[in-house]
Amino acid sequence: MTEKSQDIRERVEELREAVRYHSRRYYVEDAPEISDAEYDALYKELAQLEAAYPELITPDSPTQRVGGEPLEGFEEVQHAVPMLSLSNARKVEELREWDARVRRLLGEDEPTYVTELKVDGLAVSLRYENGLFVRGATRGNGTVGEDVTRNLRTIRAIPQKLSDDPPAVLEPRGEVYISLEEFEKLNQKREAAGERTFANPRNLAAGSIRQLDPGVTASRPLTLFLYGVGEGYDNYAGHSEALAALKSYGLRVNPYEVYEDIESVIEECERWAKKRESVGYQVDGVVVKVDSREQQERLGSVQKAPRWAIAYKFEPLARRTKLEKVWVNVGRTGALTPQAVLAPVNVGGVTISRASLHNEDYIKEKGILVGDTVVVERAGDVIPQVVRSIPEERTGAEYRFEMPTECPVCGEPVSRPEGEAVTRCVNTRCPAQALEHITHWSSRGAMDIDGLGEKLATRLFGLGLIKDVAGIYELEAEQLVPLEGFGEKSAENLVRAIEKSKEQPFPRVLYALGIRHVGAVTAALIAERFSGEDLLNGLSVEQLTEIAGIGEVVARAVVEYFALEDNRELVRRLMDLGLNFGAVEAAPAEGPLAGKRVVVTGTLSRPRSYFVEKIEGSGGTFTSSVSKNTDYVLAGEEAGSKLEKARELGVPVLDEAGFEELLERGR
Ligand SMILES: [Zn+2]
Repeated sequence: MTEKSQDIRERVEELREAVRYHSRRYYVEDAPEISDAEYDALYKELAQLEAAYPELITPDSPTQRVGGEPLEGFEEVQHAVPMLSLSNARKVEELREWDARVRRLLGEDEPTYVTELKVDGLAVSLRYENGLFVRGATRGNGTVGEDVTRNLRTIRAIPQKLSDDPPAVLEPRGEVYISLEEFEKLNQKREAAGERTFANPRNLAAGSIRQLDPGVTASRPLTLFLYGVGEGYDNYAGHSEALAALKSYGLRVNPYEVYEDIESVIEECERWAKKRESVGYQVDGVVVKVDSREQQERLGSVQKAPRWAIAYKFEPLARRTKLEKVWVNVGRTGALTPQAVLAPVNVGGVTISRASLHNEDYIKEKGILVGDTVVVERAGDVIPQVVRSIPEERTGAEYRFEMPTECPVCGEPVSRPEGEAVTRCVNTRCPAQALEHITHWSSRGAMDIDGLGEKLATRLFGLGLIKDVAGIYELEAEQLVPLEGFGEKSAENLVRAIEKSKEQPFPRVLYALGIRHVGAVTAALIAERFSGEDLLNGLSVEQLTEIAGIGEVVARAVVEYFALEDNRELVRRLMDLGLNFGAVEAAPAEGPLAGKRVVVTGTLSRPRSYFVEKIEGSGGTFTSSVSKNTDYVLAGEEAGSKLEKARELGVPVLDEAGFEELLERGR
């Protein structure tokens, strides 16, 4: 080795040590000694030397955090020691009960408790062998997680190499998160760039760790706190000793306290509940653990939750703000959902300007008016919601929210069937619903198009290659071949599968149209009586309810569907494309109740399902509501309104004996 190369080797080592040291001061201890520019200069010099002398690169070099091609998927990792979940306490009383239980189980022994904040992020396990970071995994189901080593390597707070003298195998566990400040900064940047903003820090952290491209993870300002040890825990006398050791190895540990009695623990919990928003990251409670490892082992766990630990959960965060207006969103299923547009308000460090109002009835029941001062609540990654209004703050300018009568996306009339909470756009060609409809169309129970799943449908819809379900049949292999993941053969296979679906009989086609309330069974009943032409010519609710098994709700939905010109046009296009719209031959019903509609009500000597089976087994149809089309009502004891209605309409009423007799007679 020449003298020069020896010098370079030494300089590289020196730079690595320096970068590691200052990285720890900055990312782990929050106490930088040098400026960012000085740090960058050291890092840059190291990277340049390594680029010039690649033989000097070692896997634990601070420059080796990001690299490699995106993954196809994650490998599974079996946790050597299961990652348990914690039981929760929502009231301080539950902490006292837990303490009493711990003391009862420990007998003479006095427990000592360790408290620490519960970070709301993504739980991960790190594995160090001889002080080197070799693997990182998500919690997964607690037993098996996903190998996210490459993504975790990009987090500066995770040292590639531990300092001090760690055990040969050490598996620290912790929570990856994003600080509220970084979260807001990132969202502002995205907003300025016209990109979609992230809903909350927890989801962002979790999503970042599960990226297949480590480059994306590296671009997110993630950090973590370690809160425990899986494998290697037996090197320590207890939890607080393990935390102190992790700290000495250069790992980031959340501040913790040790207490002798539960009342002090409760005081600590209440203190944190008050100042939870001051820590700069999302927390949802305080974790309390029995300190001694020996005591932990004696206490053991039940149903995947240790008896020696409990999480005291904070109340959801609530703030007052003004409900500026209600915006109606059209979901993929056509559901119109009212959303609150709020004067931006900071709830637990996250700026909220939208919140859920659930549905029309919720707004009415809560007496919420547009312009009201309202209370908005946010808990963890749950969508923020408006929980109530404050009528005392009204000025008189507030007004009642009215659900639109036309779809805000396509302008077609909307419908809210009686007894349902949701208003829907029933136009299946509404752009808001087109994709959902395509997925339903190709699903197994409907047209069963092999290979056209939700993922591909979303892609083709996004590319504009399929605009609606009729568009599926206009797709050509030549359009697919240039797409990534497609070859000539696979493109032809898909087109063939699409072509083959044209052989599906009319009941399938009718079901695939996705008419509200028309499931596969209902579609079959209609298709036995009417053809596509009949439906296009316009059937009345009465004509449809004549079919045994079709009630008013279904009939109305069918009539509404075929009344819309857009739907009629779609059906005509599908007919032209060669799909089956011809009525099918009905299998004639047989038995003493053939063609009869029977309602069952009241308390009977056997479970209802017994009678339903008897009715259907005798060729009849079981229906739930009484109408003039009902042939019999089987009434048990305490039969209420249905019995009354039957009498009113003059429908024959049977008791159990009469019912059995009827079946006997018919045989
Ligand atoms: Zn619409």
